[in-house]
Formats: sequence, C-alpha cells, structure tokens
Amino acid sequence: MKILVINTGSSSVKYQLFDMVTEEVLATGMAERIGEDSGKLTHQVMVKNGTHQKRVIEDLNIDHREGMEKITELLTDPEHGVITDKSEISAVGHRVVHGGETFQAPIIIDEKVILEIRKNTPLAPLHNPANLTGIRVAMSIFPGAPQVAVFDTAFHQTLPRHAYVYALPYDLYKNHQVRRYGFHGTSHAYVAEKSAEYLKRPLSELNLITLHLGNGASMAAIKDGQCVDTSMGLTPLEGLVMGTRTGDIDPAIPFFLANHLNMSLDEIDGLLNKESGLKGICGANDMRVVLERAEKEDDLAQLALEVYTYRIKKYIGAYVAVLGRLDALIFTGGIGENSPVIRERCCRDLSCLNIEIDADKNNSSGDPLRQISPSGSNVRVLVVPTNEELKIARETKKVVTGT
Ligand code: AMP
Repeated sequence: MKILVINTGSSSVKYQLFDMVTEEVLATGMAERIGEDSGKLTHQVMVKNGTHQKRVIEDLNIDHREGMEKITELLTDPEHGVITDKSEISAVGHRVVHGGETFQAPIIIDEKVILEIRKNTPLAPLHNPANLTGIRVAMSIFPGAPQVAVFDTAFHQTLPRHAYVYALPYDLYKNHQVRRYGFHGTSHAYVAEKSAEYLKRPLSELNLITLHLGNGASMAAIKDGQCVDTSMGLTPLEGLVMGTRTGDIDPAIPFFLANHLNMSLDEIDGLLNKESGLKGICGANDMRVVLERAEKEDDLAQLALEVYTYRIKKYIGAYVAVLGRLDALIFTGGIGENSPVIRERCCRDLSCLNIEIDADKNNSSGDPLRQISPSGSNVRVLVVPTNEELKIARETKKVVTGT
C-alpha cells in the first residue's frame, strides 16, 4: 500500500510517498515559490543503500495544480520514477492546520468535510485555504484515492475546558470559538507514542511533557496519554519564544504599539509574527546562528538564548504542576533534536523537579532516539526525532483500512 502525504502552503507543496508495508519513504520533495517566476521543484528518490537521487527543476512558473502534476510526472517517470502509474497511490494524507472544535481525529475528506474546514478559515486564514487548495488539486489528480485530512489541532482536543477557555467574555468562546486550540499536534502525538515504545510502557499510563522546538515551538502536557495542556493558543503565536514569533507577551503591548507608535493592525501582526522571537532580540532567527554568536560573546545573542530557555523552564515548572507526576520530558524538532546546549540550558537547575541531564549522553551523537538523563533517574529525559509525515501516513492508512 502506497500513501502520498501532502503539506500544502500558500506558495509551496511538500510531499512524501510512503510504502506502508515497510514504512519506507520512496520519494520526497517540495515545490516552492509557487506563483512566482522563480518557482523550484526539488525531488528526491530514495535509493536502496540509503542514499538518494536528487532532481532540481528551476525557473518554473506554476500554480498548485501544475506543481502537483509535475510531482506526479516525477513519481511515475519511466526512468527514475518510483511507481509506474499514479493509480498505485492508495490514499493521500493531507496536513490540515486548523480543525477547530469540529475535528478530533483524522477523517476521510468529502464535500461536507471541505465545508467544515472552510468554516474554520477565520481561525487560520493563511493555512486552511492553502490546505484546501491542496485537497482540491489532489482530489482531481488522484480521483480513485481516498483523501484524508490529518489536523494539527486534533491531538489537543482532549484539553479540559479550564485549560482551553480564555478569561475573556464567555460569549467570545460560545459564539466565535475563541479558545486555545494548540498546534504541532501530529508531532506531539508521534513523539509521545515513540517514547512509550522506547520506555516499554503503555502510553495510557504515562505522564509526559513534550517540547517541539523548531522554527515554531510548542510544548504539551500529556496525562495518562492524553493532552491536557499546550502552549500555543487560538493561533501559533502564543507560548514559547520562537524563531520570529513573540510567544507570550502582555496582551496590552499591541495597544501601546498602536497608540504610541501609530502602528496599524497589519504592522503589529507582522511585528509579532515575523520580526520578534529570537530574531527580534538579536537579529537572527536560525538557532545555529544565535548559538554561534553567543559563543563569540555577542550580548544580544546571549540574551536571546536566556529569554528562550527561561520561557521553556517556566513552562516545564507549570506543566509538572499540571501533571502532578512526570515520567518523561521529551525534546524534538530541529532545535530539540540537535542542540545539546539548548537541552542543557532548559533542564539546568531543575533537580528540584527530578529533572537531570547526563552531560556525556546529552553531547553524544549516538542513536537519534535516546535517553539523556542519568540511568535510574526518576524523570527520563529523552531526545525523540519527530516524523510528522510518517504519522500522517499511518493515520491515513488507519482511517482508510481500519488498521
Ligand atoms: P525545524 O523547524 O524543526 O526544521 O527546526 C528549525 C530550527 O532548528 C532552526 O532554528 C535551526 O537553526 C535549528 N537547528 C537545526 N540544526 C541545529 C543544530 N545542530 N543546532 C542548533 N539548532 C539547530
């Protein structure tokens, strides 16, 4: 059974084709700068010995449909293709950012589902329309394959209402669905499951804190296998400090910016989402650059690291209080998986919460999925590489086949 996983953005389509018997990736790639003259398609085919063949097509001027058609051509190319005909694709799994309160699990897409995803557009005005474009295009190119929507928000739908209701007039929740939703749910769910496997314990018995630290960043508190709190909110702006997003700030700051600096709503939106976070403090949003500069005694890079890890520590403390008992703390995402410095700083001086890191294990580049807390520690600290595409493929298979 072959499943194509698609993540459609407003100007990009990322894809991976899985053989679900072995869960191997057969091909992966991305069409980017869709709608511009400088469009580019990068396509990689996995070759048996673990290497891959890469093809890059540049200077394309394509829309989403043409991009998807080109991807299909590459997948079925008589010489370098990985399938002989597109009908070999049994199902298509779509990453959909906002499922609102409607979707608590993946679902086969039909016109009713499309309508509901569209209804949630005010909650994700940039993402949901792009996801719908991807769905429409895939439906017409692969008419025989069921299309499945897997929602970023679904894993967090188990939050109790005291965790998702904001202290705003209740009418805003009742009539306008203003509440905490949370994102990165597919990643939090995947690493939670992987951790349970690694710890050889049922997920339903585990209390976990998962830290997804990538360009976007969020945390989840998971009690008995179910998500009970998460740091992102109505939108992905709330919570941790991110590459270019503020995370938590005083909600009155936008009024200050409007009243005293005459900034428009659009300007404030851009400032909080694209010019803040690590970039706002020290000018760089790539954590590798921030770490390099901090190493060279750059004061603002050091400050950015301090603010970044201090916020995470506060959330760890809060989530331990929420959970009562913590079994494991899990790092994932580009930063969480690759930066021993950040992991160490997030866990520094947390022995009061039984959270400790073994320096050698933290710095070793052994098994990507590993424990970095000392042997015998009460709270296991783990590094678990995320794989959102595989999780979407598995969910798609489950919905389509029932297994
Ligand atoms: P993601 O969004 O999960 O792809 O993560 C992107 C972030 O991971 C960027 O801020 C990168 O700088 C960061 N990253 C990737 N590799 C490393 C590394 N070796 N050390 C520190 N940060 C890294």
